[in-house]
Amino acid sequence: MKKTAILGSTGSIGTQTLDIARANGDLKITALAARKNTELLEKQTREFLPELVAVFDEDAAADFRTRVRDLPVRVLSGMDGLLEAAAGTDAEIVVGAIVGMIGIRPVIEAIRAGKDIALANKETLVCAGHLIMPMLNKYGVKLLPVDSEHSAIFQCLQGEAGNRIDRILLTASGGPFRTKSAEELKTVTPEDALKHPNWSMGAKITIDSASMVNKALEVMEAHWLFGVPYDHIQVVIQPKSIIHSMVQFADGAVKAQLGTPDMHLPIQYALYYPERRELPGDRLDFWSIPEIALEKPDPEKFRGLALGIEAGKTGGSAPTVFNAANEYAVAAFLQKKIGFTDIPMLLEKALSAVPVKPSPTLPEILEAEQETYEVLNCQQL
Ligand code: NDP
Repeated sequence: MKKTAILGSTGSIGTQTLDIARANGDLKITALAARKNTELLEKQTREFLPELVAVFDEDAAADFRTRVRDLPVRVLSGMDGLLEAAAGTDAEIVVGAIVGMIGIRPVIEAIRAGKDIALANKETLVCAGHLIMPMLNKYGVKLLPVDSEHSAIFQCLQGEAGNRIDRILLTASGGPFRTKSAEELKTVTPEDALKHPNWSMGAKITIDSASMVNKALEVMEAHWLFGVPYDHIQVVIQPKSIIHSMVQFADGAVKAQLGTPDMHLPIQYALYYPERRELPGDRLDFWSIPEIALEKPDPEKFRGLALGIEAGKTGGSAPTVFNAANEYAVAAFLQKKIGFTDIPMLLEKALSAVPVKPSPTLPEILEAEQETYEVLNCQQL
């Protein structure tokens, strides 16, 4: 039994991770963590019997304690609970599937406790890649990408140790607004943006896919995970999400990983790496794919993509400012306080107003996040 802790168990990645646990039957879930979805957490707890459940929200934690008082489970709350779920059980691998910057500290604590990480949470590497990557060697842990693009690149790199990567071709679907004009984007609604053409994901990442900010975050993740300079990472739109990403090597050979858009595959690959387990589901039918068309992203229409790559190149705390401004802007957009095209405008404002710290510590990263919110709070939304 592989002992596994799941942070963000009630979300899109978390529930799919539990699907894998259910189907394979040989993962022992030691800890679950979520923010406040106690109804689903209760079902998960009764099914998987973890020793520890962390419910971030204090009131929800109190409700949860009542719900599971007949079970032998430790219930904790707040950041202490989250850190304990990450590092305080004998899990061998921790799935980092919390959304947002709140997910960074638990991943760091899990690494310190010597646990391998299956990483979905983007913010961890975007904001703290310079802290995380050296820790992997120091604590002798593996960081296994869950994001489908990074899993694809990771799969392409198997058997290529020592071979120089010339270029990473990071694929993007282009989201629901790929064919809309810049003018039309001014009037799109959250409901429109939440209709992703290929993937079913949480709300935040779905909006980020529509604005292509998600791709900027993924470029930063790829930079850290694979040690490739920004100028050697190219974003390629592939509208059907069949190619999950590609790697070009020094001799010009390009390797790609293809498949149907289903997150169960990269999650399962990360959990059982290097083994490939059976996975039911659709298979690619090449006869029904007339062509695999590739497009260049339009930097004018998807300004968030260009701004994010620039923030990545600047480095230091700039990616944190970019990410925090985006979290703020996406929340405002979902609440219909701003329009879709105001998202890059807020990103630009924050990036020009918050000073960059060259190599921020974790407290400095969290300070940069706060400073960004303060700058944006002063804006008239
Ligand atoms: P969801 O919004 O579906 O789920 C988020 C999860 O995080 C929920 O379990 C939520 O709990 C939990 N959570 C939120 N805040 C806290 C907190 N303060 N303390 C503890 N738990 C918290 O997100 P996704 O599953 O879509 O995404 C998770 C991460 O993975 C994101 O960083 C995303 O960018 C990344 N990712 C997602 C992909 C996808 O296909 N969905 C693909 C690649 C990467 P609750 O339900 O109680 O609110």
